[in-house]
Amino acid sequence: MDQRVRHFEDLERLTESVTLVAQRVKSLKERGYTLKHDSNENLKMALKQLEEQKRIVLEGENFRKKLHNTIMELKGNIRVFCRVRPWLADEDEAPAVSYPTAIESLGRGIVLLQNGQNHHFTFDRVFHHEASQEDVFVEISELVESALDGYKVCIFAYGQRGSGKTYTMMGRPDAPEQKGLIPRSLEQIFQTSQSLEAKGWTYRMQVSMLEIYNEEIRDLLSTRGADLARTAHEKQYTIHHDADGNAHVSGLTIVDVSSINQASFLLQQAAHSRSVGKTDMNEQSSRSHFVCTLRISGENENTKQEVKGVLNLIDLAGSERLSRTGATGERLKETQAINKSLLSLSCVMSALANKEDHVPFRNSKLTYLLQPCLGGECKTLMLVNVAQDSSSIGETCCSLRFASTVHMCEGIPRRQMTMKNKQPCLV
Ligand code: ADP
Ligand code: MG
Repeated sequence: MDQRVRHFEDLERLTESVTLVAQRVKSLKERGYTLKHDSNENLKMALKQLEEQKRIVLEGENFRKKLHNTIMELKGNIRVFCRVRPWLADEDEAPAVSYPTAIESLGRGIVLLQNGQNHHFTFDRVFHHEASQEDVFVEISELVESALDGYKVCIFAYGQRGSGKTYTMMGRPDAPEQKGLIPRSLEQIFQTSQSLEAKGWTYRMQVSMLEIYNEEIRDLLSTRGADLARTAHEKQYTIHHDADGNAHVSGLTIVDVSSINQASFLLQQAAHSRSVGKTDMNEQSSRSHFVCTLRISGENENTKQEVKGVLNLIDLAGSERLSRTGATGERLKETQAINKSLLSLSCVMSALANKEDHVPFRNSKLTYLLQPCLGGECKTLMLVNVAQDSSSIGETCCSLRFASTVHMCEGIPRRQMTMKNKQPCLV
């Protein structure tokens, strides 16, 4: 792509030079000079050839987009990746997870050992516990770029509390190599949009960040400060869909961003707003869905094309089984709200993948908000995070089964695998 951009820039420069020469020839002629050869004709021809070359480059670019999208479609509009978290310092190293080495499932399979039985799962990609943030990002970067081509993209991190969702999505801000998918995606969008400027594209980017806690929306970019985030549930944020099928949240802060630095600053602000209000940061953030939305509008002055893409990057609340938590009171309400919305999400994904007539988007705030970005031509990636220790095996099994349900339902032909329990086991 860089090569094509350079080629296009060379052509632009050449066109400018030839136009200048043509103007000089014209003014010389006007001043009474005569030319040995009819240079004007030659120049006209050169300009024509240059225009033709530019047309070919633009055609090539459109072809690249088409190929890119075909590849993405072949890979499937709903894709499922799985990432295994490394051991934490206080965990007993009794692994419940292994990776098959057979060629057909290499890098795509995972085996869970439960009660002496092996359960095999296959996904579009499995990242073992040593995979780096960069390894994961490389696999999703094409999907992220689709948003610049005008696609609606959703990337979710799903899994039990402590399985590595926030690490995968946000990472650790202090260490560059541990940056998560959200900052990396934003960086890539800005970088690529800049390189596309040479081809006549100009983009407008808008960011919003919210969390859904107990089925209530909180604005994480509210300019009235972090304190507001604590009381934001008093303000009613309502979701409505416009005639173009885009979702809007009334009163939600939407910020125009023109650089990665601005976007990174907002991300930090949102992370800060998300963590205030409760003493334990991880506790709090694990119990709400975090949604970072980037709206992209692009215009090409050369080709008069217009695109409108959306990139949603989501760190879901941790899935938990009530039986394991033994929660009561407020905590029970939270767990029920989380499970209800995750179950709604799984029902929506299954209905979409099975191409059912009715998709129950309205059953939760999360699915209603994301409705325009799920299904149809939209591209969805579910990243299932799991721990590998034997004490988490029940949750790990639930997460992998849920992910399998989504993965197997896909309309695209895949290698079939039968499962005993096809039902998502969230509640
Ligand atoms: P979740 O958001 O799913 O509740 P976290 O992302 O907070 O889980 O991860 C739990 C802990 O594990 C954190 O301390 C986090 O830094 C660490 N962790 C998770 N995934 C990784 C990884 N791939 N590499 C290193 N540490 C990780
Ligand atoms: Mg988390």
